[in-house]
Amino acid sequence: MGFLRVKKSEDLGGSSADPTAPLLEVDNLHVEFRIEDGTVRAVNGLSYTLGRGETLAILGESGSGKSVSAQAVMGILDTPPGFVTQGSVKFRGVDLLALNKKSKTYDHVVPEVRGTRIAMVFQDALTALNPVYTVGWQIGEMFRVHQGASRKEAKEKAIEMMERVKIPSARERINSYPHEFSGGMRQRVMIAMALSMDPDVIIADEPTTALDVTVQSQIMELLAELQRETGMGMILITHDLAVVADVADRVVVMYAGREMETAEIDDIFHLPSHPYTLGLMESIARPDVHVDRLTPIPGTPPDLLAIPSGCPFHPRCTYATERCPKEVPELESVNGSHSSACFYWKEVQVEL
Ligand code: SF4
Repeated sequence: MGFLRVKKSEDLGGSSADPTAPLLEVDNLHVEFRIEDGTVRAVNGLSYTLGRGETLAILGESGSGKSVSAQAVMGILDTPPGFVTQGSVKFRGVDLLALNKKSKTYDHVVPEVRGTRIAMVFQDALTALNPVYTVGWQIGEMFRVHQGASRKEAKEKAIEMMERVKIPSARERINSYPHEFSGGMRQRVMIAMALSMDPDVIIADEPTTALDVTVQSQIMELLAELQRETGMGMILITHDLAVVADVADRVVVMYAGREMETAEIDDIFHLPSHPYTLGLMESIARPDVHVDRLTPIPGTPPDLLAIPSGCPFHPRCTYATERCPKEVPELESVNGSHSSACFYWKEVQVEL
């Protein structure tokens, strides 16, 4: 198309993007919220890398820090009260957190990367979409703002995107408002907006939580199909191990803002090496394993204003010993890229 102005080159506003670097490298990320009652340590040392065409699932219960970590990567944390206090977020080797906000490089790089080369699909499409604008206008806005498209060109591009995410009768429905769409169709609109700038990375934050099971699997299939077509990397944030099983290549399991276990998807399912991962697996129905009753993890996730000492999982852990409240277990290599932050990961494996 003649009007396209967004570039897919390695130039990030003059910064030294490295074409050989992973798409995204998050290293030792710490995020805290300073509120009246104290400091909420929401993310405590998260690290991961994401390559082209790869899907990394960040898995955990609510309050585990998974969504906050994504907001920090996207640069959409509410500051204050939220602050990134440590760590780096590199896109193609350029550390987005280290750029000086007053510099020209920042003005060039950050808008270019966030929202266009790293795009996000939010959980609640009804809240994320503007109720007073048609879906076509909202998708078309991406092309008007980022590519300088005319209204007519933007409308054609919006129809094209709606067709790409399989919204039936796109041309007829371009002037519909969000409330005239079903939940699943609204989520397709969100995906169309996120994909409109042909991003390198898409962050999908609980993209199917508000949808019924059949629509959930249709949306996940769509994301996987679009990913295969484009080769983009995907970070999937979810509390649902069943969703992870279908699409992820790698998994980071988070609890109380910390990484508990990280592994390739097969290792997570066949050789879970952390009691929390095991607890998550025992609490969901799996087609490959027959159980008479599901076993929920005892207790509730911790208050992040008062994270338990030592291993934060110890009040809920059936493997805990006297050592666990006293010392913080570091991530330890189990095998290759499989790591666990549990003193007793070998015992967990033995019991499988
Ligand atoms: Fe449980 Fe202790 Fe392992 Fe933490 S370190 S998961 S409390 S056994």
